[in-house]
Amino acid sequence: MESTNFIHDIIDEEIAEGKYRADEIHTRFPPEPNGYLHIGHCKALIIDFGTAAKYGGKCNLRMDDTNPAKEDTEFVDAIKEDIHWLGFDWGDRFYYGSDYFDRDYEYAVELIKKGLAYVCELSAEQFRDPAYCGDLTHPAVSPWRDRPIEESLDLFSRMKAGEFPEGKYTLRAKIDLASGNFCMRDPVIYRIRYIDHHRQGKKWCIFPMYDFAHPIQDAIEGITHSLCSLEYEIHRPLYDWVINNVSVGCKPRQIEFARLNITNTVLSKRYLRYLVENDIVDGWDDPRMPTLCGLRRRGYTPESILDFCQRIGVSKSNSMVDIGLLEHCIREDLNARAPRRVAVLSPIKLIVDNYPEGKTEYFDLPNNPGDPEAGTRALPFTRELYIDADDFAQVPPPKFFRLKPDGEVRLMGAYIVKFASLETNADGSIKAVHVNADLETGCGMPADGHKVKGTIHWLSADYAKPATAILYDRLFTEENMNDLPEGKSYIDFLNPSSAEKVENIMVEPSLADAKPGDRFQFVRTGYFCLDRKNPGVFNRVVGLKDSFPKKA
Ligand code: ATP
Ligand code: MG
Repeated sequence: MESTNFIHDIIDEEIAEGKYRADEIHTRFPPEPNGYLHIGHCKALIIDFGTAAKYGGKCNLRMDDTNPAKEDTEFVDAIKEDIHWLGFDWGDRFYYGSDYFDRDYEYAVELIKKGLAYVCELSAEQFRDPAYCGDLTHPAVSPWRDRPIEESLDLFSRMKAGEFPEGKYTLRAKIDLASGNFCMRDPVIYRIRYIDHHRQGKKWCIFPMYDFAHPIQDAIEGITHSLCSLEYEIHRPLYDWVINNVSVGCKPRQIEFARLNITNTVLSKRYLRYLVENDIVDGWDDPRMPTLCGLRRRGYTPESILDFCQRIGVSKSNSMVDIGLLEHCIREDLNARAPRRVAVLSPIKLIVDNYPEGKTEYFDLPNNPGDPEAGTRALPFTRELYIDADDFAQVPPPKFFRLKPDGEVRLMGAYIVKFASLETNADGSIKAVHVNADLETGCGMPADGHKVKGTIHWLSADYAKPATAILYDRLFTEENMNDLPEGKSYIDFLNPSSAEKVENIMVEPSLADAKPGDRFQFVRTGYFCLDRKNPGVFNRVVGLKDSFPKKA
């Protein structure tokens, strides 16, 4: 994680100026526990934890649970699990934003006493009315701006005591009703909500707004650099205003970076939640989801995801990253370490006519041809085999180097076989392809030294085990899901063939011992991961063909 970026340049400068010692650098990752983490969060995690690690500083994990409406402990546990899975650790610095509600309240009272906040009586409707919120050329208006401090203090404490209905009053920061930045037009910093908070229960019926609570949380924890995505840039003046006007001891600096966007993908918890709640996907960990638990179930390794995030780097302007790069990263990782196994996804019978019935012979196949240390395993060979339907063509297209009438082919790691005859069912479909093996050659060259062009994979029909494969593909058909045509919703672009279930595939006997989460390269087919939930189901992580480097 020894990379550098514009955030590190800023910090380097501050350290050079003597503002901080390197080991004083303190960041935080502040997820809202209203959903599962997605790969966009991974970018933020690398920036937050990676920056702290680079300087020998600290990074806190803080649940941003100020908004009581949608939070759940299920999400808190899942967030922790996913962060640990990626290899980051917050040590003993785990916090909840809601733990600071008492302090938030005190700082709000401090602002009122300083004449910097007031209780306002505009209704939600009036807030949206141009007569009150103004526009680009007209300032906002609040008839309650000059309410006496004592009156605001009294009303605010009675708001807290539950004397008023929701929406009756708000507390607003007194900043600048004419500001060109609408965030600064006396923003609401507290509102009344009668709702149980997942940790505070009924203790509070007033809740601080994010823009008020967040800088205070950062300051209380001694955060030096509050790193967040670009949409908070416009809120930064308010962040600074809060920090500078309440008596917190620490003055964190907010720095924004570009969000991660990936083609054919949505990275918004609201959208992802909708897919889950409407059973469009099989939960937050559906292998097509860009959530960390979904990627994990699909078969992605933490290393491949971190590699991806490192390669795209950290920038200050929004851009779209090709999902092909993510696929490239997992392919590269699994190519180096996934054991090779044989699976036949669309099995047809291959009968070796000249091979004795009842005989079994074992051929050693390499677990990874690129890595001699990975060793070999023995694959049983018998008279009746399975091969993939795609590896035989009755009417072969040009340059078809697999099995065809009058052709020959190498059975991977075993004999060369020559076509003998075709056995069909009444409907014309293939019952079995008959061949004769060159039993002298074994794995070696034919006696006359001629070249056999094609090699196909095979399994013994006596020893192969049935299994199921799910061929996953991109969840959305449209590249740029952030910029959809007029009147279209992201739901309109769901890929109808993003999860193709293939039952009754055949796999080599050793795969009977595979454990949930184990990853393999099915030779000539793709990378697969044994599902963590459904026994006997192999999820396709990614195909073998890499289109990315050519495009890049
Ligand atoms: P969403 O829009 O998906 O709901 P969010 O910003 O509300 O995301 P949070 O839980 O508040 O989600 O995010 C925690 C941190 O992760 C924030 O600092 C946020 O800036 C960052 N983050 C969220 N999405 C992305 C993304 N796509 N790329 C980079 N950082 C992100
Ligand atoms: Mg957020």
